[in-house]
Amino acid sequence: MARIAVAGFQHETNTFAPVKADFDAFAVPGAWPGLLRGAEVIAGTRGRNLPIAGFCEAAERAGHTLLPLSWTAASPSAQVTDDAFARIANQILEDLSQQVGLDAVYLDLHGAMVTEREADGEGALLAQVRALVGDQLPVVASLDLHANVSRAMVDRADALISYRTYPHVDMAETGARALAQLDGLFNGTAGRATAFRQIPFLIPLTAGCTLSEPGRGVYARLAEIEEARPGVMLSFNCGFPPADVPDAGASVIAHARDQTTADAAADDLAAYVTEREDAFGADILPAGSAVTQAIELVRARRGPVVLADTQDNPGAGGNGDTTGLLRELLAQGASGVLAGLLHDPDAARAAHDAGEGAVIEVSLGGRTPGDTPLDVGVKVAAVGDGQVTGVGPFYRGARLQLGPCALLALDGGRVRVAVVSRKLQAADRAPFLHLGADPAEAAILALKSSVHFRADFGPIASDILIAAAPGPNPVDHTQLAYRHLRAGVRLMPNGPTFLGAPRG
Ligand SMILES: [Zn+2]
Repeated sequence: MARIAVAGFQHETNTFAPVKADFDAFAVPGAWPGLLRGAEVIAGTRGRNLPIAGFCEAAERAGHTLLPLSWTAASPSAQVTDDAFARIANQILEDLSQQVGLDAVYLDLHGAMVTEREADGEGALLAQVRALVGDQLPVVASLDLHANVSRAMVDRADALISYRTYPHVDMAETGARALAQLDGLFNGTAGRATAFRQIPFLIPLTAGCTLSEPGRGVYARLAEIEEARPGVMLSFNCGFPPADVPDAGASVIAHARDQTTADAAADDLAAYVTEREDAFGADILPAGSAVTQAIELVRARRGPVVLADTQDNPGAGGNGDTTGLLRELLAQGASGVLAGLLHDPDAARAAHDAGEGAVIEVSLGGRTPGDTPLDVGVKVAAVGDGQVTGVGPFYRGARLQLGPCALLALDGGRVRVAVVSRKLQAADRAPFLHLGADPAEAAILALKSSVHFRADFGPIASDILIAAAPGPNPVDHTQLAYRHLRAGVRLMPNGPTFLGAPRG
């Protein structure tokens, strides 16, 4: 049985987002457990839908010895500060250097980390790990489906294994697949030959959903290829477009026992994706039209109708505080609205100070550059301490720490907004239920999320509309001022080609 060092360092970086991730963003628990070290890595993640939890549970079952180093993740945002990256990476490396008799290293990574200095955070971390353990020791990492994979990452790991679902309901399962791949490397049923292919167009986040086409078909094809070629392990990464780095975008990784097989498997899946470029377009409505349609659907006795406020999705680096969709709902007189999760610690604090039932004036949200707060009178419908356990398939079991929370009633109660002190993607019903608001009873749900909401809200929604309100995660990537993307990539499916940095 093997001795395996395990560590995790996850960040998804939107280089166009307003706020960087400093050391505290990783250290303080929020949606994730904070910075764990040593035995806490296993105890603090056990049972959760997290890759490291799935890896460790499978490894324990197989009788391996786990040597936990550190694990941390921060909410998606702008760049990781050099200070945070150095402190966390150095802690992992120092603890790794103390281990004796190591047989392998497993890393739970996202794959789209950018630091102030490094365009390829995971490439830099894997290089340091590889330099420490040498070329022979197997290094295996799991990645998010939104990884922006680089050649440097591929060359420094023996296997990179990505999620296959979006919403990511298979994070723990992916960790278990990483263990299976590592066991395959130990016993010779898997191999070190690797093929890497980058897809020549960026895929909008909302088009990567695996509950519908074209995403569902991609992963069905992936499974067919693996079935037909024993020993092959494939990953398809949709990529994370709001990242101004050379390797932003979708990719295929294939591992096999020989290079010919790895190349053939990667080419097969890459061809399947590129032949379907048309199908990856964005299906999105201007916020005003989306609200109008939602109101019409409710009049026709449908509901809850979900409006996905994708461009301010905290899961894609948004601050969770833009007010555009809320203003549209108020302007069009929508009723039965439940909106959230709006990130505004000041409004939450004011609501707690005033107490339930109080009527107060607040300056709601709008701290994102280019947005403005909504100055409005509200009734404090409920307050909560923000200690919430996730109930949906995505955040299942997660002990979410949202800080002081409040449910604010606007426009005579026609619109209710769930306000949180720590930003969280609206991917679970629990934070709303915590404030006494049942999403299943709302007519319209305005959710700050792109796709993850579908796991828990999809089953109760009659209709889902993707609304384009202002925010730092534009679905139309041609609106992003790229400078560092590799030349030749199409910014949207069948869209304009990035030719290089503009002069001047
Ligand atoms: Zn993701």
